[in-house]
This record gives sequence, structure tokens and C-alpha cells, in this order.
Amino acid sequence: MINVRDAIRCAYKAALASVALTFSAMIYAHDPAQVHAAGTPVVYLVPHADDETLSMSIDIRNRIHEGRPVILVLASDGKHSKAREVANGQYDAESYNAPTSGAVYCHYHKRYHNPIAEHYADGYLTMTKFAQTRIDDFIRVAGGAYGTPSSRIYIEHLPNDGFTYSDVHALIAKYHALYPTADIRTTSWGDVHADHAMLGRVLHDMKVNGELGNVGTVYFWSIASRMADATPPRTLYHGVLTDPSYDWWYIEKAITYYKTFDPAHGRYANGYHSVPTQFDYFESKRDIYYHYN
Ligand SMILES: [Zn+2]
Ligand SMILES: [Zn+2]
Repeated sequence: MINVRDAIRCAYKAALASVALTFSAMIYAHDPAQVHAAGTPVVYLVPHADDETLSMSIDIRNRIHEGRPVILVLASDGKHSKAREVANGQYDAESYNAPTSGAVYCHYHKRYHNPIAEHYADGYLTMTKFAQTRIDDFIRVAGGAYGTPSSRIYIEHLPNDGFTYSDVHALIAKYHALYPTADIRTTSWGDVHADHAMLGRVLHDMKVNGELGNVGTVYFWSIASRMADATPPRTLYHGVLTDPSYDWWYIEKAITYYKTFDPAHGRYANGYHSVPTQFDYFESKRDIYYHYN
């Protein structure tokens, strides 16, 4: 289906060159209230590191292209990802919903990883260390691929696989108070992942019951939900980059971040170790699907 809103916005694109964003980002770096002067900001509620790239990046780059300030909020450290076991080459007592011992093969690098033999900067990846590497990934990508100044990158600590209604409500209320005129965009309440779905469910409820006033909401249909052929709760719209020759470069940069395995420098290919088929799928499709309230 044609996305009329994107088509209309496309017409303004020439007047809102990316240089305008760079300029405004410098001016409005430290005061959330002043962000509004640069156009309606957009708050992206990202469940886990890599969701912003796999399921939202096309929209993020298109909004940046329009000169709209982007605020990226990471909701959880995503520490349960199997990327930890892949990088360690084994399950352990901290493994979530999995065996607590046994070897884990890396199909990407075609070997069993070994943190000691491969000189990992962090040594064996405990869940606490791993959580920090995922947060580092997100911050690196938010700045490097989505041009977000550090003042607009937020890290929250909802428990992975344990997003509750009340915690998410408080989270959304917090960012709505910080950026009252900003659109809020997150994953769909029909998502196959419970954390993703909770973000969408609460945002939808808050929009419907009037708590968010005129704030615009968008719900992304994740790559995981697409690959699972799940049923979306609303009609889906299709999104592609308005200027792929310019903007795909940034998304490819984010994908590269998530694929980089340079363990001596604390880079463990967390994204690709976690969901390689989703990265491959997204790279081949280069599009997103989303719905409204
Ligand atoms: Zn996720
Ligand atoms: Zn590997």
C-alpha cells in the first residue's frame, strides 16, 4: 500500500537538506524543550539493541532526511540474547531458557568461540559484561548511523523478557513529559516478541485513552514478525528510503557495527550472533512495514 504521508513529506525533502539537521543538532544539543524548534521530533522506543536498525531504521533515516530531531530510547539491555552463548562458545549457569551447559557453535564464523584463546577484551562474557556490550552497541549505532547527539540517546533498564505494563507506562509517560510534542514510535502490539508487543500495547492504550493528546504514534512490524508470518493487528503500510543513494549508507554502517567481530577491542558481533537471518532478510529487503493506531 502507498504511504501517503511519506509521499507528502517527500515533497518537502529538498527544503530540508541534511545539512539543516547537522546545524540544528548543534544548536539544540542540550535542551529537550528547544528540540521542538527544529520540527516535530520523534521519540523511538527501541526494545533491544538492533531493533532500531532491523525494524525502524528506514523510518529513522527518512525522518532525519526531513530535518526532524530523532530521540532514541533503548528500553532494555537485552542481556538474554543467545549472542552471549555464541561468543562464549558455550551455555552456562546464567543461560536463559536454555541448557545450562554444553558447547555452542558459531555458524557465522564456522567455529566454537573461545574468549581466552581469542583474547576477548572482556574475558569470558558474564551476563553483566554482555549487557554492557549491547548497550555500547546501541550508543555507537545511535550516534554513528543515526546522527543522534548523546543528549538524545537514552538508556533504560527494563528487565529483558519481563516488560510489565506499569513499567512501560511509566517509561512512555517520562518521554512524553520530556518531549511533549514529539511523535512516539515503537514496535507493534501484535509482535511475536513479548517485550516488543508490550511497548506497542501500552503506547496504543495511552493514545486511545487520551493520555498522549495529539501525539502521533506509529507501530513497526518487526522483521521477526514478518519472518514468522504473524498476523498484524492493523493494515500494514510499506516504507522504503526516500533517498536510498544517500541514506542506505548509514543503515549499512549500522549493520556493519552489529556484524563486527573484533573481540580484542570489545566488539563481539552481538547483532549478527543473535539474529543473523533477520539481518540477512533486512539487508535483502531494505524496507519496513508499520501501522497506525
Ligand atoms: Zn528485540
Ligand atoms: Zn562468531
